[in-house]
Amino acid sequence: MVVEKKIKAKFPITEEERKLISLVDDYEEEIIDLLQNLVKIDSLNMSEFQFYDISKIFEFTKKYMEKEGFTAKLYKVPFLSKKEDEFYYNLIVSHKGNSLGKTLQFNGHLDIVPYSPDKWNPDTPPLGGVIKDEKLYGRGAFDMKAGVACQMIAMKLLKNSGVKFSGKIQMWFTPDEETHGAYGSAFMTKNHFDVVNTDATIISEPSIIKPLSSPSIGIGEKGPHWVKLAFHGVAGHGSWPKEKSNAINKAVRFIAKAEKKLKIKKCKAPISKIQYVKMLLSRVSFSDYRKIRSFTGEKVPLDKDKRNLGNLHKTTFSFNEIKAGIKTNVIPDRCELNVDFRTMPGLTTQELFDSIVKYCSKLKYRIELPEGYINLQHSNQKFKQEPVDITLTIITIGVGSSINPHSEFGKVLKNSFETIYQVKPIFTFNTGFSDAGNMREAGIKDIFVIGPGGRNAHNANEYAEISTLNDITKLYLLIAFRYLKS
Ligand SMILES: [Zn+2]
Repeated sequence: MVVEKKIKAKFPITEEERKLISLVDDYEEEIIDLLQNLVKIDSLNMSEFQFYDISKIFEFTKKYMEKEGFTAKLYKVPFLSKKEDEFYYNLIVSHKGNSLGKTLQFNGHLDIVPYSPDKWNPDTPPLGGVIKDEKLYGRGAFDMKAGVACQMIAMKLLKNSGVKFSGKIQMWFTPDEETHGAYGSAFMTKNHFDVVNTDATIISEPSIIKPLSSPSIGIGEKGPHWVKLAFHGVAGHGSWPKEKSNAINKAVRFIAKAEKKLKIKKCKAPISKIQYVKMLLSRVSFSDYRKIRSFTGEKVPLDKDKRNLGNLHKTTFSFNEIKAGIKTNVIPDRCELNVDFRTMPGLTTQELFDSIVKYCSKLKYRIELPEGYINLQHSNQKFKQEPVDITLTIITIGVGSSINPHSEFGKVLKNSFETIYQVKPIFTFNTGFSDAGNMREAGIKDIFVIGPGGRNAHNANEYAEISTLNDITKLYLLIAFRYLKS
Protein backbone atom coordinates (compact mmCIF):
# COMPACT_ATOMS: atom_id res chain seq x y z
CA MET A 1 0.00 0.00 0.00
CA VAL A 2 1.39 3.36 -1.04
CA VAL A 3 0.54 6.22 1.30
CA GLU A 4 0.39 9.68 -0.22
CA LYS A 5 1.47 12.72 1.80
CA LYS A 6 -1.50 14.96 2.43
CA ILE A 7 -1.16 18.75 2.21
CA LYS A 8 -3.36 21.74 2.97
CA ALA A 9 -4.52 23.41 -0.23
CA LYS A 10 -3.18 26.94 -0.68
CA PHE A 11 -6.51 28.09 -2.04
CA PRO A 12 -9.11 27.26 0.57
CA ILE A 13 -12.44 26.26 -0.79
CA THR A 14 -15.26 28.81 -0.57
CA GLU A 15 -18.72 28.00 0.68
CA GLU A 16 -20.16 28.40 -2.81
CA GLU A 17 -17.56 26.02 -4.23
CA ARG A 18 -18.17 23.49 -1.49
CA LYS A 19 -21.88 23.51 -2.21
CA LEU A 20 -21.26 23.17 -5.93
CA ILE A 21 -18.92 20.21 -5.78
CA SER A 22 -20.97 18.42 -3.12
CA LEU A 23 -23.67 18.09 -5.81
CA VAL A 24 -21.50 15.38 -7.34
CA ASP A 25 -22.18 13.11 -4.35
CA ASP A 26 -25.86 12.96 -5.34
CA TYR A 27 -24.92 11.99 -8.87
CA GLU A 28 -22.63 9.06 -8.13
CA GLU A 29 -25.23 6.57 -9.37
CA GLU A 30 -25.81 8.59 -12.52
CA ILE A 31 -22.10 8.69 -13.41
CA ILE A 32 -21.94 4.90 -13.12
CA ASP A 33 -25.17 4.46 -15.04
CA LEU A 34 -23.95 6.74 -17.82
CA LEU A 35 -20.63 4.92 -18.01
CA GLN A 36 -22.43 1.57 -18.23
CA ASN A 37 -24.55 2.89 -21.09
CA LEU A 38 -21.48 4.17 -22.94
CA VAL A 39 -19.67 0.84 -22.50
CA LYS A 40 -22.66 -1.11 -23.82
CA ILE A 41 -22.64 0.81 -27.10
CA ASP A 42 -20.08 -0.75 -29.43
CA SER A 43 -17.78 2.02 -30.76
CA LEU A 44 -15.03 -0.07 -32.23
CA ASN A 45 -12.18 1.56 -34.10
CA MET A 46 -10.81 -1.16 -36.40
CA SER A 47 -8.29 0.97 -38.26
CA GLU A 48 -8.13 4.25 -40.13
CA PHE A 49 -8.52 2.27 -43.36
CA GLN A 50 -11.49 0.11 -42.39
CA PHE A 51 -14.85 1.74 -41.77
CA TYR A 52 -16.90 0.80 -38.74
CA ASP A 53 -20.16 2.57 -37.98
CA ILE A 54 -19.99 4.23 -34.54
CA SER A 55 -22.69 6.84 -35.10
CA LYS A 56 -24.86 5.25 -32.40
CA ILE A 57 -22.65 6.42 -29.54
CA PHE A 58 -22.55 9.95 -30.97
CA GLU A 59 -26.32 10.03 -31.25
CA PHE A 60 -26.59 8.76 -27.67
CA THR A 61 -24.26 11.43 -26.22
CA LYS A 62 -25.88 14.17 -28.33
CA LYS A 63 -29.33 13.22 -27.12
CA TYR A 64 -28.17 12.96 -23.51
CA MET A 65 -26.65 16.45 -23.53
CA GLU A 66 -29.52 18.02 -25.49
CA LYS A 67 -31.94 16.72 -22.91
CA GLU A 68 -29.94 18.68 -20.33
CA GLY A 69 -30.36 21.85 -22.38
CA PHE A 70 -26.97 22.00 -24.09
CA THR A 71 -26.49 23.17 -27.65
CA ALA A 72 -25.16 20.20 -29.61
CA LYS A 73 -23.75 20.00 -33.11
CA LEU A 74 -22.53 16.99 -35.07
CA TYR A 75 -19.76 17.47 -37.65
CA LYS A 76 -19.86 14.86 -40.38
CA VAL A 77 -16.49 13.61 -41.65
CA PRO A 78 -16.42 11.56 -44.85
CA PHE A 79 -14.55 8.27 -44.62
CA LEU A 80 -11.76 7.41 -47.04
CA SER A 81 -14.15 5.43 -49.26
CA LYS A 82 -16.26 8.59 -49.84
CA LYS A 83 -19.35 6.34 -49.81
CA GLU A 84 -22.43 8.24 -48.71
CA ASP A 85 -23.21 5.98 -45.75
CA GLU A 86 -19.62 5.78 -44.51
CA PHE A 87 -18.72 8.74 -42.32
CA TYR A 88 -17.60 9.64 -38.80
CA TYR A 89 -18.87 12.28 -36.43
CA ASN A 90 -17.34 14.79 -34.09
CA LEU A 91 -19.73 16.20 -31.53
CA ILE A 92 -19.49 19.66 -29.97
CA VAL A 93 -21.73 20.39 -27.01
CA SER A 94 -21.71 23.79 -25.36
CA HIS A 95 -23.38 26.19 -22.97
CA LYS A 96 -22.81 29.92 -22.60
CA GLY A 97 -22.42 31.62 -19.23
CA ASN A 98 -23.99 34.85 -18.05
CA SER A 99 -21.55 37.16 -19.82
CA LEU A 100 -18.76 37.08 -22.37
CA GLY A 101 -15.48 35.51 -21.37
CA LYS A 102 -13.12 32.62 -21.88
CA THR A 103 -14.05 29.22 -23.24
CA LEU A 104 -13.10 26.06 -21.38
CA GLN A 105 -13.20 22.86 -23.37
CA PHE A 106 -13.55 19.29 -22.17
CA ASN A 107 -12.47 16.61 -24.59
CA GLY A 108 -12.70 12.84 -24.87
CA HIS A 109 -12.66 10.12 -27.48
CA LEU A 110 -15.55 7.72 -27.82
CA ASP A 111 -13.81 5.03 -29.86
CA ILE A 112 -12.45 1.81 -28.40
CA VAL A 113 -9.74 -0.59 -29.56
CA PRO A 114 -10.68 -4.11 -30.75
CA TYR A 115 -11.16 -6.93 -28.22
CA SER A 116 -11.19 -10.73 -28.31
CA PRO A 117 -14.22 -11.79 -26.20
CA ASP A 118 -12.75 -15.27 -25.53
CA LYS A 119 -9.82 -13.70 -23.64
CA TRP A 120 -12.19 -11.92 -21.22
CA ASN A 121 -13.69 -13.51 -18.12
CA PRO A 122 -17.14 -14.80 -19.16
CA ASP A 123 -18.86 -12.95 -16.32
CA THR A 124 -17.36 -9.57 -17.32
CA PRO A 125 -17.69 -9.43 -21.13
CA PRO A 126 -16.19 -6.54 -23.16
CA LEU A 127 -19.51 -4.84 -23.93
CA GLY A 128 -21.25 -5.79 -20.69
CA GLY A 129 -20.52 -2.90 -18.35
CA VAL A 130 -20.69 -5.39 -15.48
CA ILE A 131 -19.77 -4.11 -12.01
CA LYS A 132 -17.80 -6.44 -9.78
CA ASP A 133 -15.78 -5.55 -6.66
CA GLU A 134 -16.05 -1.79 -7.26
CA LYS A 135 -14.79 -2.17 -10.82
CA LEU A 136 -16.78 -1.45 -13.97
CA TYR A 137 -15.63 -3.83 -16.69
CA GLY A 138 -15.70 -3.30 -20.43
CA ARG A 139 -13.61 -2.39 -23.45
CA GLY A 140 -13.12 1.35 -23.25
CA ALA A 141 -14.45 1.59 -19.69
CA PHE A 142 -11.06 2.90 -18.56
CA ASP A 143 -9.74 4.25 -21.90
CA MET A 144 -11.69 6.47 -21.87
CA LYS A 145 -15.43 6.31 -21.43
CA ALA A 146 -15.03 6.82 -17.66
CA GLY A 147 -13.39 10.21 -18.23
CA VAL A 148 -16.04 11.11 -20.79
CA ALA A 149 -18.87 10.22 -18.38
CA CYS A 150 -17.30 12.30 -15.58
CA GLN A 151 -16.87 15.33 -17.83
CA MET A 152 -20.45 15.05 -19.10
CA ILE A 153 -21.78 15.05 -15.54
CA ALA A 154 -19.50 17.95 -14.54
CA MET A 155 -20.83 19.96 -17.53
CA LYS A 156 -24.37 19.18 -16.54
CA LEU A 157 -23.86 20.11 -12.89
CA LEU A 158 -22.15 23.40 -13.74
CA LYS A 159 -25.07 24.35 -15.97
CA ASN A 160 -27.93 23.09 -13.82
CA SER A 161 -26.56 24.29 -10.44
CA GLY A 162 -27.45 27.86 -11.38
CA VAL A 163 -24.02 29.27 -10.39
CA LYS A 164 -22.99 32.33 -12.34
CA PHE A 165 -20.09 32.08 -14.75
CA SER A 166 -18.85 33.94 -17.77
CA GLY A 167 -17.67 32.67 -21.13
CA LYS A 168 -18.50 29.22 -22.34
CA ILE A 169 -18.14 25.60 -21.36
CA GLN A 170 -17.77 23.22 -24.28
CA MET A 171 -17.20 19.51 -24.74
CA TRP A 172 -15.73 17.91 -27.86
CA PHE A 173 -16.26 14.19 -28.48
CA THR A 174 -13.83 12.66 -31.01
CA PRO A 175 -14.26 9.43 -33.03
CA ASP A 176 -10.78 8.00 -33.63
CA GLU A 177 -8.12 8.93 -31.11
CA GLU A 178 -6.99 5.30 -31.10
CA THR A 179 -5.83 5.66 -34.72
CA HIS A 180 -4.36 9.16 -34.29
CA GLY A 181 -7.37 11.29 -35.09
CA ALA A 182 -7.49 11.55 -38.89
CA TYR A 183 -11.30 11.91 -38.72
CA GLY A 184 -11.30 13.58 -35.30
CA SER A 185 -8.68 15.91 -33.87
CA ALA A 186 -6.71 16.26 -37.12
CA PHE A 187 -9.84 16.82 -39.22
CA MET A 188 -11.41 19.34 -36.87
CA THR A 189 -8.24 21.38 -36.34
CA LYS A 190 -7.80 21.56 -40.12
CA ASN A 191 -11.42 22.22 -41.11
CA HIS A 192 -13.11 23.79 -38.07
CA PHE A 193 -10.23 25.34 -36.19
CA ASP A 194 -12.31 28.21 -34.78
CA VAL A 195 -14.76 25.77 -33.21
CA VAL A 196 -12.16 23.78 -31.29
CA ASN A 197 -9.56 26.48 -30.64
CA THR A 198 -10.57 27.38 -27.08
CA ASP A 199 -8.69 29.13 -24.27
CA ALA A 200 -8.06 25.95 -22.30
CA THR A 201 -8.74 22.24 -22.70
CA ILE A 202 -8.87 19.27 -20.38
CA ILE A 203 -8.69 15.85 -21.99
CA SER A 204 -10.06 13.21 -19.64
CA GLU A 205 -7.78 10.33 -20.67
CA PRO A 206 -6.85 8.15 -17.67
CA SER A 207 -3.84 9.57 -15.82
CA ILE A 208 -3.29 7.67 -12.61
CA ILE A 209 0.25 6.38 -12.13
CA LYS A 210 -0.18 3.05 -10.41
CA PRO A 211 0.13 2.36 -7.51
CA LEU A 212 -0.72 6.00 -6.68
CA SER A 213 -4.42 6.59 -6.23
CA SER A 214 -4.78 10.21 -7.34
CA PRO A 215 -4.19 11.33 -10.94
CA SER A 216 -1.17 12.93 -12.49
CA ILE A 217 -1.48 15.88 -14.84
CA GLY A 218 -0.26 15.30 -18.38
CA ILE A 219 1.45 18.30 -20.00
CA GLY A 220 2.87 16.73 -23.13
CA GLU A 221 3.34 13.70 -25.27
CA LYS A 222 5.80 12.13 -27.58
CA GLY A 223 5.11 12.12 -31.30
CA PRO A 224 4.28 8.81 -32.94
CA HIS A 225 6.28 8.24 -36.12
CA TRP A 226 5.20 4.89 -37.53
CA VAL A 227 7.10 3.85 -40.61
CA LYS A 228 7.26 0.83 -42.84
CA LEU A 229 10.68 -0.28 -44.07
CA ALA A 230 10.52 -2.56 -47.10
CA PHE A 231 13.82 -4.45 -47.49
CA HIS A 232 14.49 -5.55 -51.05
CA GLY A 233 16.44 -8.76 -51.64
CA VAL A 234 16.92 -11.42 -54.26
CA ALA A 235 14.93 -14.68 -54.29
CA GLY A 236 16.55 -18.07 -54.70
CA HIS A 237 16.60 -21.72 -53.67
CA GLY A 238 16.80 -22.25 -49.94
CA SER A 239 19.49 -24.87 -50.36
CA TRP A 240 21.88 -22.12 -51.62
CA PRO A 241 21.72 -19.45 -48.92
CA LYS A 242 22.18 -15.79 -49.87
CA GLU A 243 23.67 -14.37 -46.73
CA LYS A 244 23.74 -10.77 -48.01
CA SER A 245 20.69 -10.53 -50.27
CA ASN A 246 18.12 -12.55 -48.33
CA ALA A 247 15.59 -9.82 -47.45
CA ILE A 248 15.04 -11.23 -43.94
CA ASN A 249 18.78 -11.20 -43.28
CA LYS A 250 18.92 -7.57 -44.35
CA ALA A 251 16.13 -6.62 -41.96
CA VAL A 252 17.72 -8.61 -39.15
CA ARG A 253 21.00 -6.74 -39.62
CA PHE A 254 19.10 -3.46 -39.44
CA ILE A 255 17.36 -4.53 -36.21
CA ALA A 256 20.41 -6.02 -34.52
CA LYS A 257 22.66 -2.97 -34.79
CA ALA A 258 20.06 -0.26 -34.22
CA GLU A 259 20.27 -0.26 -30.42
CA LYS A 260 23.92 0.85 -30.56
CA LYS A 261 24.33 2.56 -33.91
CA LEU A 262 21.07 4.33 -34.75
CA LYS A 263 21.85 7.74 -33.22
CA ILE A 264 18.95 10.14 -32.81
CA LYS A 265 19.33 13.79 -31.77
CA LYS A 266 18.75 14.33 -28.06
CA CYS A 267 16.10 16.86 -27.13
CA LYS A 268 15.44 18.45 -23.77
CA ALA A 269 12.67 16.60 -21.95
CA PRO A 270 9.72 18.76 -20.81
CA ILE A 271 10.20 17.28 -17.33
CA SER A 272 13.72 16.34 -16.30
CA LYS A 273 14.48 13.16 -14.38
CA ILE A 274 15.29 15.19 -11.26
CA GLN A 275 12.04 17.18 -11.48
CA TYR A 276 10.07 13.98 -11.90
CA VAL A 277 11.69 12.26 -8.94
CA LYS A 278 11.20 15.40 -6.84
CA MET A 279 7.50 15.52 -7.69
CA LEU A 280 7.05 11.85 -6.82
CA LEU A 281 8.92 12.28 -3.55
CA SER A 282 6.78 15.30 -2.64
CA ARG A 283 3.85 12.93 -2.66
CA VAL A 284 5.23 9.67 -1.26
CA SER A 285 8.00 8.37 0.98
CA PHE A 286 11.28 7.10 -0.43
CA SER A 287 10.36 3.44 0.07
CA ASP A 288 7.04 4.00 -1.70
CA TYR A 289 8.87 5.83 -4.47
CA ARG A 290 10.88 2.66 -5.01
CA LYS A 291 7.66 0.68 -5.23
CA ILE A 292 6.39 3.05 -7.93
CA ARG A 293 9.62 2.74 -9.86
CA SER A 294 9.60 -1.04 -9.84
CA PHE A 295 5.87 -1.36 -10.44
CA THR A 296 5.31 -3.28 -13.65
CA GLY A 297 1.75 -4.45 -13.18
CA GLU A 298 0.90 -8.12 -13.07
CA LYS A 299 4.00 -10.31 -13.16
CA VAL A 300 4.51 -12.35 -16.30
CA PRO A 301 7.41 -14.82 -15.98
CA LEU A 302 8.54 -14.31 -19.56
CA ASP A 303 8.76 -10.53 -19.20
CA LYS A 304 12.37 -9.61 -18.42
CA ASP A 305 11.91 -5.86 -18.91
CA LYS A 306 11.74 -3.41 -16.04
CA ARG A 307 9.79 -0.19 -16.30
CA ASN A 308 12.42 2.07 -17.84
CA LEU A 309 11.76 5.67 -16.85
CA GLY A 310 14.55 6.67 -19.24
CA ASN A 311 12.04 6.22 -22.06
CA LEU A 312 10.42 9.46 -20.90
CA HIS A 313 13.54 11.42 -21.77
CA LYS A 314 14.54 10.19 -25.18
CA THR A 315 13.20 9.27 -28.58
CA THR A 316 12.60 5.52 -28.68
CA PHE A 317 11.94 2.90 -31.34
CA SER A 318 10.41 -0.54 -31.26
CA PHE A 319 10.26 -3.11 -34.09
CA ASN A 320 6.69 -4.31 -33.87
CA GLU A 321 5.64 -5.99 -37.11
CA ILE A 322 7.50 -8.06 -39.64
CA LYS A 323 6.29 -9.81 -42.76
CA ALA A 324 8.34 -11.93 -45.14
CA GLY A 325 8.64 -15.25 -46.90
CA ILE A 326 6.35 -17.54 -48.84
CA LYS A 327 7.83 -21.00 -48.37
CA THR A 328 10.50 -22.71 -46.27
CA ASN A 329 12.75 -23.47 -49.26
CA VAL A 330 12.38 -20.08 -51.00
CA ILE A 331 14.72 -17.20 -50.15
CA PRO A 332 12.55 -14.09 -49.61
CA ASP A 333 13.10 -11.10 -51.88
CA ARG A 334 11.05 -8.75 -49.69
CA CYS A 335 10.74 -8.17 -45.98
CA GLU A 336 8.49 -5.54 -44.44
CA LEU A 337 9.34 -4.18 -41.04
CA ASN A 338 7.08 -1.72 -39.22
CA VAL A 339 8.83 0.50 -36.70
CA ASP A 340 7.19 2.55 -33.97
CA PHE A 341 9.35 5.62 -33.29
CA ARG A 342 8.22 7.89 -30.45
CA THR A 343 9.86 11.27 -30.81
CA MET A 344 10.59 13.94 -28.23
CA PRO A 345 9.21 17.48 -28.64
CA GLY A 346 11.74 19.43 -30.68
CA LEU A 347 12.70 16.58 -32.99
CA THR A 348 11.39 17.09 -36.52
CA THR A 349 10.43 14.32 -38.92
CA GLN A 350 13.28 15.38 -41.23
CA GLU A 351 15.77 15.09 -38.35
CA LEU A 352 14.51 11.61 -37.55
CA PHE A 353 14.78 10.60 -41.21
CA ASP A 354 18.33 12.04 -41.34
CA SER A 355 19.27 9.71 -38.46
CA ILE A 356 17.77 6.71 -40.22
CA VAL A 357 19.55 7.58 -43.47
CA LYS A 358 22.91 7.98 -41.67
CA TYR A 359 22.40 4.64 -39.96
CA CYS A 360 21.64 3.01 -43.32
CA SER A 361 24.82 4.50 -44.75
CA LYS A 362 26.78 2.87 -41.93
CA LEU A 363 25.18 -0.45 -42.84
CA LYS A 364 25.89 0.28 -46.53
CA TYR A 365 22.19 0.18 -47.38
CA ARG A 366 20.71 2.58 -49.88
CA ILE A 367 17.40 3.91 -48.58
CA GLU A 368 14.66 5.88 -50.34
CA LEU A 369 12.47 8.30 -48.40
CA PRO A 370 8.96 9.47 -49.28
CA GLU A 371 8.65 12.50 -51.54
CA GLY A 372 9.13 15.87 -49.91
CA TYR A 373 11.97 14.85 -47.57
CA ILE A 374 15.67 15.53 -48.07
CA ASN A 375 17.70 12.35 -48.40
CA LEU A 376 21.33 12.81 -47.24
CA GLN A 377 22.42 9.87 -49.38
CA HIS A 378 21.47 11.79 -52.52
CA SER A 379 24.56 13.98 -52.15
CA ASN A 380 26.73 10.88 -52.24
CA GLN A 381 27.50 9.64 -55.75
CA LYS A 382 28.47 6.19 -54.50
CA PHE A 383 25.00 5.48 -53.14
CA LYS A 384 23.30 6.84 -56.24
CA GLN A 385 24.72 4.01 -58.30
CA GLU A 386 23.63 1.30 -55.89
CA PRO A 387 20.22 -0.38 -56.17
CA VAL A 388 17.71 0.57 -53.46
CA ASP A 389 17.89 -1.74 -50.42
CA ILE A 390 15.14 -0.14 -48.35
CA THR A 391 12.04 1.89 -49.17
CA LEU A 392 10.66 3.88 -46.27
CA THR A 393 6.96 4.75 -46.25
CA ILE A 394 5.02 6.62 -43.61
CA ILE A 395 2.17 4.89 -41.78
CA THR A 396 1.36 7.80 -39.48
CA ILE A 397 3.16 10.85 -38.18
CA GLY A 398 2.66 13.17 -35.25
CA VAL A 399 5.25 15.43 -33.62
CA GLY A 400 5.99 15.50 -29.90
CA SER A 401 4.61 18.47 -27.96
CA SER A 402 4.32 19.90 -24.48
CA ILE A 403 3.06 23.00 -22.68
CA ASN A 404 4.08 25.20 -19.80
CA PRO A 405 2.18 23.97 -16.73
CA HIS A 406 2.48 27.37 -14.99
CA SER A 407 0.10 29.27 -17.27
CA GLU A 408 -2.92 31.06 -15.82
CA PHE A 409 -5.08 28.02 -16.51
CA GLY A 410 -2.35 25.68 -15.24
CA LYS A 411 -2.47 27.52 -11.91
CA VAL A 412 -6.25 27.11 -11.66
CA LEU A 413 -5.85 23.44 -12.43
CA LYS A 414 -3.10 23.02 -9.82
CA ASN A 415 -4.93 24.79 -7.02
CA SER A 416 -8.20 22.98 -7.77
CA PHE A 417 -6.32 19.70 -7.81
CA GLU A 418 -4.82 20.43 -4.39
CA THR A 419 -8.24 21.35 -3.03
CA ILE A 420 -9.82 18.08 -4.15
CA TYR A 421 -7.01 15.58 -3.59
CA GLN A 422 -4.99 17.31 -0.85
CA VAL A 423 -1.76 16.09 -2.40
CA LYS A 424 0.79 17.87 -4.57
CA PRO A 425 0.27 17.53 -8.30
CA ILE A 426 2.63 15.46 -10.39
CA PHE A 427 3.08 16.71 -13.93
CA THR A 428 3.86 14.02 -16.44
CA PHE A 429 5.11 13.74 -19.96
CA ASN A 430 3.57 10.74 -21.66
CA THR A 431 4.99 8.28 -24.15
CA GLY A 432 1.64 7.51 -25.80
CA PHE A 433 -0.46 9.60 -28.16
CA SER A 434 -3.62 11.51 -27.32
CA ASP A 435 -5.70 13.98 -29.31
CA ALA A 436 -3.64 16.71 -27.59
CA GLY A 437 -0.86 16.00 -30.10
CA ASN A 438 -2.89 17.10 -33.13
CA MET A 439 -4.40 19.99 -31.19
CA ARG A 440 -1.04 21.39 -30.05
CA GLU A 441 0.39 20.92 -33.51
CA ALA A 442 -2.45 23.10 -34.84
CA GLY A 443 -1.59 25.81 -32.30
CA ILE A 444 -4.21 25.26 -29.60
CA LYS A 445 -2.84 26.31 -26.22
CA ASP A 446 -3.18 25.09 -22.64
CA ILE A 447 -4.17 21.46 -23.14
CA PHE A 448 -3.89 19.25 -20.06
CA VAL A 449 -4.63 15.54 -19.67
CA ILE A 450 -6.17 14.36 -16.43
CA GLY A 451 -8.60 11.52 -15.84
CA PRO A 452 -9.86 8.69 -13.65
CA GLY A 453 -8.28 5.35 -12.80
CA GLY A 454 -8.54 1.71 -13.76
CA ARG A 455 -6.48 -1.01 -15.41
CA ASN A 456 -5.88 -3.08 -18.52
CA ALA A 457 -6.34 -0.44 -21.21
CA HIS A 458 -6.07 -2.16 -24.63
CA ASN A 459 -5.97 -5.51 -22.80
CA ALA A 460 -8.52 -8.16 -21.79
CA ASN A 461 -10.64 -7.47 -18.68
CA GLU A 462 -10.26 -3.69 -18.87
CA TYR A 463 -12.02 -1.87 -16.05
CA ALA A 464 -12.62 1.56 -14.61
CA GLU A 465 -12.18 2.00 -10.87
CA ILE A 466 -15.47 3.28 -9.55
CA SER A 467 -13.87 4.84 -6.46
CA THR A 468 -11.99 7.35 -8.64
CA LEU A 469 -14.99 8.73 -10.55
CA ASN A 470 -16.48 10.96 -7.89
CA ASP A 471 -13.36 13.00 -7.12
CA ILE A 472 -12.38 13.54 -10.73
CA THR A 473 -15.89 14.81 -11.52
CA LYS A 474 -15.54 17.22 -8.60
CA LEU A 475 -12.19 18.33 -9.96
CA TYR A 476 -13.58 19.03 -13.45
CA LEU A 477 -16.44 20.96 -11.93
CA LEU A 478 -14.24 23.02 -9.61
CA ILE A 479 -11.76 23.84 -12.37
CA ALA A 480 -14.58 24.95 -14.66
CA PHE A 481 -16.11 27.12 -11.96
CA ARG A 482 -12.84 28.72 -10.87
CA TYR A 483 -11.70 29.35 -14.42
CA LEU A 484 -14.97 30.75 -15.73
CA LYS A 485 -16.39 32.47 -12.66
CA SER A 486 -17.49 36.02 -13.21
ZN1 LIG B 1 -7.45 6.88 -24.85
